[in-house]
Amino acid sequence: MRYVDEFRRPELIRKTSEEIRHLADPARHYRFMEVCGGHTHAIYRFGLHQLLPSNIELVHGPGCPVCVLPMGRIDDGLAIAENPGVIFTAFGDMMRVPGTRGSPLEHQSRGMDVRIVYSPADALKMAVANPDRHVMFFAIGFETTAPSTALTLIRARQQGVRNFSVFCNHVTIIPAIRAILDSPGMRIDAFIGPGHVSTVIGCRPYEWIAKNEHKPIAVSGFEPLDLLQGILMLLRQLSDGRAGVENQYARVVPWEGNRAALKAMSDVFELRPYFEWRGLGFISQSALRIREEFSEWDAERRFAVPGIRVTDPKAAQCGEVLKGVLQPAQCKLFGKECTPEHPVGALMVSAEGSCAAYFNYEHRKVAAGVP
Ligand code: SF4
Repeated sequence: MRYVDEFRRPELIRKTSEEIRHLADPARHYRFMEVCGGHTHAIYRFGLHQLLPSNIELVHGPGCPVCVLPMGRIDDGLAIAENPGVIFTAFGDMMRVPGTRGSPLEHQSRGMDVRIVYSPADALKMAVANPDRHVMFFAIGFETTAPSTALTLIRARQQGVRNFSVFCNHVTIIPAIRAILDSPGMRIDAFIGPGHVSTVIGCRPYEWIAKNEHKPIAVSGFEPLDLLQGILMLLRQLSDGRAGVENQYARVVPWEGNRAALKAMSDVFELRPYFEWRGLGFISQSALRIREEFSEWDAERRFAVPGIRVTDPKAAQCGEVLKGVLQPAQCKLFGKECTPEHPVGALMVSAEGSCAAYFNYEHRKVAAGVP
């Protein structure tokens, strides 16, 4: 198949969902975690959960980078932007994420120079165009976006652009999966592996899940047929008693990953000993920091960072939703105090956040009486 439409063909979707129903053991309850926020979005957008038998439960994982960022890091980034002459830049999905004193957009309305960029390279260009200002890029994301930050830092050094820095919040997916598996009481039967991250890291890093934890994993794409095929692959493994790594998204994901992107990341970043994740707490070696050689472009070394630690509002249950313990609608604030228009937690802000996806594609439909 060559075109997106082909991955949405109704007859193939029907056939695959019938195969799933046929293969699922009615005596079993399956819990499959989709690690990636993009998958969560696609599942609700296309209503794929409705095509599955009721004994297959899709559990939403921690793969939305905006959602797992603790509020304190947002406050820290905004504190840097309070320095005279600093321009705060970030991707659009960061702009409405609440910090303790409001989101970046709310700070903009109070006079802070906050600007949306589409890439870190745009932020670097902004620095070149504004030599009397300092442009700070609030970097966020898994291994999907970390290579573009790395390449931008390499370019900043090559071009000698000194009024530019990066506040690095890049995280890595494997330790998060490990933390999920180590969570007490957590039962996951298999993983739908993240498609975007895997374009960079490949499939090999997941082999330990299959080998040591005996959990099947199917790295999958984002179209309806991709996800249903990924689920079918997991069911086949479970019914055969196998636990291996399979690559449903082979048209995009190379088994060994993207070597050029991995090299850029390792040239620029090193692992942090610890990093705090919203809902998962501190996880060792789970995030990236900028290497000493690039310290001139590291906002955490150039500016005083308060190191703010904030707990989420008491009633917010973002942590439980992030760990897959609760479904979005089970949070006490869902659809009441917390909506996409007035988000309390980050999961209600980002398009990849499970609460926003559930609200936009399920809750609104139910509220409007659509069957
Ligand atoms: S509904 Fe809001 S507060 Fe509750 S888990 Fe979702 S984002 Fe967090």
